[in-house]
Amino acid sequence: MTLAVYACDPGRSRGRRFPQEPAPTRTEYQRDRDRIVHCTAFRRLVYKTQVFLNHEGDLFRTRLTHSLEVAQLGRSIARSLNLNEDLVEAIALAHDLGHTPFGHAGQDALNECMRRFGGFEHNLQSLRVVDHLEQRYPQFDGLNLTFETREGILKHCSRGNAEQLEEREPGGVGQRFLDRSQPSLEAQLCNLADEIAYNAHDIDDGVRSGLITMEQLEEVALFDDFRRQTLSAYPDLGDRQQGRRLLYETIRRMLSAQVYDVIDASERALLEASPQSVEAARELAPLMQFGAEMRDKSQALKKFLLHQLYRHPKVMHTTGQAQTVVRELFGLYLDCPQEMQGGFLARSEAVRSAPDGQVLGARVVADYIAGMTDRFAGREHERLTGQRLLA
Ligand code: MG
Repeated sequence: MTLAVYACDPGRSRGRRFPQEPAPTRTEYQRDRDRIVHCTAFRRLVYKTQVFLNHEGDLFRTRLTHSLEVAQLGRSIARSLNLNEDLVEAIALAHDLGHTPFGHAGQDALNECMRRFGGFEHNLQSLRVVDHLEQRYPQFDGLNLTFETREGILKHCSRGNAEQLEEREPGGVGQRFLDRSQPSLEAQLCNLADEIAYNAHDIDDGVRSGLITMEQLEEVALFDDFRRQTLSAYPDLGDRQQGRRLLYETIRRMLSAQVYDVIDASERALLEASPQSVEAARELAPLMQFGAEMRDKSQALKKFLLHQLYRHPKVMHTTGQAQTVVRELFGLYLDCPQEMQGGFLARSEAVRSAPDGQVLGARVVADYIAGMTDRFAGREHERLTGQRLLA
């Protein structure tokens, strides 16, 4: 397949932080993907959740299946637009590596705990995982990924953190947050694939968990259009017994429509702007996009999920428990770093006498907690407090 002129070409990568010889059979982005799949943080995604906690059932999405769905959607859009599929895959598989246990709840709690010490941002944490925290290579910390994969992983970044990144790595992945340019088209595409994936699977998990109903979803245009379309093609699916098939077929149609919409709208934007290089595309407004109508419908669906699912009293209850677990663990490890395993005590001791030892020590604790799976965090909390907050 020929890549478009505005697609990232592994032969013209901005390279790795620690230069390495090229691999004999794989491109640089394929190599990034392989490093990601083999790393520890990637395996832990299977026991981390987004909305539902891991113990609530085996049928709900975990961050691992979510990441695989993002990679699948992203690759199929990339293929249609002649963008670099391997780069999209690498970014998609790595995009959630920095997530804390217990989804959004865990992240908010950890951010709160870290407020005095520079805060906690999960995108930046994903970058920390691949740049520093994975320890698998004799020559360097992290996975030493290419600039383009790292740039895609850092989806958002506050100005303060971008300035710090820029100080350590001038002209690096922090720069675009300061000069307000865009990341590669492949990175832009991953953000859309992420949104398409979670909108769809949260409906799926939400209905199957019984927290939202098909009737409630009738008020969501994006869903209801395809529910009606499905019912007119297969009237038998209106039967209650066939509810699951109706749900799956509706979601399938909704997913396809969003994928085709992104392909169409982005193709038009690319044609109009016609960037002649990767660098030219970075200087333009985001070219990977939904059409205006689909953007509105997707927003409306997100709003529905926020109010009806993410803020559902049952979800809020476990969310509250999960936040207590994170908060209490944070305080406990800060006071007793010897309770941390796997080299984190050593890291904490190494920074203790530094001038900003307190801040660095808190970051070690945040790294430790962020790396935990839901179950490990729950068990650790029980071990240290004698209380079982999460069944
Ligand atoms: Mg995601």
